[in-house]
Amino acid sequence: MAKLKDLEELREEIEQCVKCGACRAHCPVFGAEHREGRVARGKIALSKAVLDGAVGFDAKVVEDLSQCLLCGSCWAQCPNKVPTEEIVAAARRRIAEEQGLSSFGKGVAAVIGRPKLMNLLAKTGGALSSLLFEKLPENSGLRLRFPAPYLDAGRTLPPLTSKPFRERVPEVIEGAPGQPTVAFFTGCGINYMYPAIGEAFVKALQFLGVTIIIPKDQACCGLPAVSAGAGKTVEQLAEQNLEALNRRPVDFVVTACASCNAGLGKIYADMGPEFAELAKKTQDIFVFLASHGLPEKLAALPKPTRRVKVTYHDPCHLRTRGITKEPREILRALPQVEFVEMEAAGTCCGLGGTYSVYHYENSKKIGAKKAGFVAASGAELVATDCPGCIMQLQDSINHAGGTQRVVHILELLAEALPERPLSP
Ligand code: SF4
Ligand code: SF4
Repeated sequence: MAKLKDLEELREEIEQCVKCGACRAHCPVFGAEHREGRVARGKIALSKAVLDGAVGFDAKVVEDLSQCLLCGSCWAQCPNKVPTEEIVAAARRRIAEEQGLSSFGKGVAAVIGRPKLMNLLAKTGGALSSLLFEKLPENSGLRLRFPAPYLDAGRTLPPLTSKPFRERVPEVIEGAPGQPTVAFFTGCGINYMYPAIGEAFVKALQFLGVTIIIPKDQACCGLPAVSAGAGKTVEQLAEQNLEALNRRPVDFVVTACASCNAGLGKIYADMGPEFAELAKKTQDIFVFLASHGLPEKLAALPKPTRRVKVTYHDPCHLRTRGITKEPREILRALPQVEFVEMEAAGTCCGLGGTYSVYHYENSKKIGAKKAGFVAASGAELVATDCPGCIMQLQDSINHAGGTQRVVHILELLAEALPERPLSP
């Protein structure tokens, strides 16, 4: 049975905080609002006070604990490696147990916990797209025509598709003999909003002759529910995905979404020994491609006369787990790309799951800094490896009046690849 840790089970980690304050310089929320309750040290102290019975979850404590992107940037810099994002997520679950989920949290849990309902809502949204949304210039997204609950009217949104990715492809796509078999864990972003990324994923793996299994019964990884404090939903989804992915013999489970990768590769692994094998098999798409000879094959492709300037944004869920080299390696190897590094490529984009819904003004402030770094890099495109980051970065760039488009690296890779494999 999948079981997330209770706040009490993290007491030892909480007590590792020596209040040195090294996390302050690296916390995006503290950068937006210079208040102690916003930084890791403050949230850890609040969690300890709750555990010791010194305070309860009053409105101020709940607000402070909601002011966290769960980005892990503090953990990466902390001398004692205190896992603030795990502590805050556990505290949010405690709050939900004691006070119930917020109305938005209830909505998140209800939708992502019921794949059929999510499918229906996404398809309905896709079919009504032209009524609900207006198109932004340069094809950079959509904007709501009417005010809607929890969504700022000025926010850039990606289109919902009336035909989700997993309905566009067969469940099994045979590759060449002797090549590995992978399960593609698509995640909701690719399935409902960015099916072109899924199609690019298939093209890239077919180029290498890999057999691809796209389980129809996979569900959301559960990360939005982690952020909302909906622990039971996370546990239920973890079990459902384990069953769906265990049903087929595969060498790897590959993701093209940083959050799904963190879900399957880390968060599930902390929920019980039955998830260890899945965590071991889970790979980010660019880790997989880089270790299966793609850069060498790309080097053999003809070079176009004009190259496009592209920079890279590190999604927190990859960066904090050490996956920074391989996405850049693939980008640099693309014949049509002139890669430029931007300043602070590894700072959070400001999305943070439900954070950007509850705290859109702060989310925009954090995103504005990123948009400034993008502009200063001189890049025409920003490439990344996470649908959530794509959505947030495009919104931030549009607010800043920039013209840069945000894409997944896989989309650039698909453009570069020939229609037929060069070799199996
Ligand atoms: S969380 Fe880590 S970096 Fe921050 S105050 Fe505590 S020990 Fe220092
Ligand atoms: S996880 Fe991110 S937002 Fe939360 S305290 Fe740490 S650095 Fe700040």
